Amino acid sequence: MSILVLGGAGYIGSHAVYQLIDQGYDVVVIDNLQTGHRDALHPNAHFYEGDIRNREFMRSVFEKETIEGIIHFAANSLVGESMVEPLKYYDNNVFGTQVVLETMKEFGVKNIVFSSTAAVYGEQKVMPITEEADTRPANTYGETKLAMEKMMAWCEKGFGIHYAALRYFNVAGARSGGEIGEDHNPETHLIPVILEAALGKRPAITVFGEDYETEDGTCVRDYIHVEDLIDAHILALKYLQNGGESNYFNLGSSLGFSVKEMIETAKAVTGLEIPVQMGERRSGDPSTLIASSEKAKQVLGWIPSRTSIEQIIKDAWNWHKHHPNGYQN
Ligand code: UDP
Repeated sequence: MSILVLGGAGYIGSHAVYQLIDQGYDVVVIDNLQTGHRDALHPNAHFYEGDIRNREFMRSVFEKETIEGIIHFAANSLVGESMVEPLKYYDNNVFGTQVVLETMKEFGVKNIVFSSTAAVYGEQKVMPITEEADTRPANTYGETKLAMEKMMAWCEKGFGIHYAALRYFNVAGARSGGEIGEDHNPETHLIPVILEAALGKRPAITVFGEDYETEDGTCVRDYIHVEDLIDAHILALKYLQNGGESNYFNLGSSLGFSVKEMIETAKAVTGLEIPVQMGERRSGDPSTLIASSEKAKQVLGWIPSRTSIEQIIKDAWNWHKHHPNGYQN
């Protein structure tokens, strides 16, 4: 019996594969390598290259393997891009998930844990955000993740799947052993962009807006270490396998840091000068997102252990410093 990781060659998915294998699971990976990397694949994972939207391909994998549960990371996830290419997000995220659910139905696979996002909440007045907050996405990315959540809920009623939707806040850092890390092309996420500026790979970090209603005017986000995030996925899988009901969980650290604070911390961690320039607001960005992760702690027994922002940036820096060209090194 294996756990199927969809998107297991991507940044977050590859960390899941490593941690599942650390814990003794047999792991099957599906990835179309659109944004994933062959070198991010764990050597002991059983890899199938293909697209989750391809029904025949999906059936062929489920025929060969005995899948007992799925962790689904295969999606596009850039807020900015989703605002200019909305249909790409409906196609890969929503239709892709439809095919995953169709295949689960056909092969009788019941349990799925999947990446959702804090972007389902949009702009909220009350911080930290609990799972009870209204969902009102401010961008296409969040809208498609909410559609995925709702599709799961109707499929539960229709044919009895069980799901855990994990609403990530800002995922960052890298595996502490240093084998894998974050490598997007183009890179748009704050911490790697800051570190690329530190390495001189880009002229500066552009701060997207300093006129938000926050203490220093820049956006505030809640950063979570990728290894803590994956611990929660494995706990969520066990929870479903033990008969837990379908559920939604926020995953964050419950602490907010502004873009400027992140830059200052990165300067301290790297010991390097980091050139900064001010820029316009980025479309679709809420000013502040901070999670309450109490539910994941209470229900799943999740205990995050790498919660300091210095630790997160340190692990990201360890990866970037040793792989300045990502997996191309
Ligand atoms: N950000 C920025 N400059 C960059 C990249 C990001 O100022 O080059 C800001 C962005 O506007 C947001 C925060 O950093 O407020 C985190 O952005 P990221 O893209 O890492 O994650 P998101 O919050 O979109 O999931």
